[in-house]
Amino acid sequence: MTKRTEILRAVSEAAAVFNEPPSGARTSFDVIGAVADRNIPLLFRPLDKLWGAFITVNDQERGIIVTTKLGLPAQRFTVAHELGHLLLGHRTSLDETVGFEGRNAPASRPAHEAAADTFASELLAPKRLLLASATRHEWTRNKLHQPRNVYQLSLRLGISYQAACWALVTSKVLTRPEARQLQEKPVKTLKRELAPAGSITNSWADVWAITAADSETFIEAGSDDLFAVHVQDHASAGYVWRLVDADAEVDVVGERAPDLDHAYGARSSRVSYVRFRTPGVHHLVFEHVRPWSRATLDRIRIDVDGHGKEREGWARRTRRGVLEQVA
Ligand SMILES: [Zn+2]
Repeated sequence: MTKRTEILRAVSEAAAVFNEPPSGARTSFDVIGAVADRNIPLLFRPLDKLWGAFITVNDQERGIIVTTKLGLPAQRFTVAHELGHLLLGHRTSLDETVGFEGRNAPASRPAHEAAADTFASELLAPKRLLLASATRHEWTRNKLHQPRNVYQLSLRLGISYQAACWALVTSKVLTRPEARQLQEKPVKTLKRELAPAGSITNSWADVWAITAADSETFIEAGSDDLFAVHVQDHASAGYVWRLVDADAEVDVVGERAPDLDHAYGARSSRVSYVRFRTPGVHHLVFEHVRPWSRATLDRIRIDVDGHGKEREGWARRTRRGVLEQVA
């Protein structure tokens, strides 16, 4: 089989997997769910030298191991890469890394690895998913040439910034030289543009620029991620945005005035920085209200799976399923 055939096979296999579940309000593809639905053993271990491995014994016993030492986006991409090896019928593969370039991988990348990369990229960032986020946020082709928008797109797709750059090449939004140039931009700088110094508590944490356009979506985030919620008060009519359900789950870690707000490009009169206190599934609800009459003009509600990356052991979902059966 030629490399080209192998890549095309990966593209069509990814399209078949992507088509199965309805994606609903979820902005990213549920890759752990796709593995669980196929009853494929998926184990997380603190591997130092490998990002992941696909293991097959006599083509009968098959399983996937992925390291716990990566952040959520790279971990998801590795799970997808190993699922690719499995569905494409490859042999055992020990991966020291995976390639975010997908089908744009350099010619030196072995055919099976390039195919697994392609599968991962097509599964997690197919044109349909990319377009859904771009439309919602009004990220035009031009805006997707700006690093800050590519970064926000990558968060909503649950892939790394680099992987998003290359998915945009596959979708013919960027050229290869443009992607190469764009991916040089340090993500650290993009985060700093969005959040005040000191508000990012760990270097893995991402910063989400949240606007009303995110309303009614379900996003998957890291447990320490910071949400910069951009709101536009209708102050002359007495309406202000207010965080609802401000219970013990969420901390408002800061607020910022409008004049500093040009990093994201969204019109806003205020930015609130919030973070969840515990990992888990949370709801971020803001209401545009007249405080004295409780009249509500608008509402932002976002469901957040803030568990973050998988920890050591079976995938979180599998563990929960087992517990429910025992209970
Ligand atoms: Zn591989």
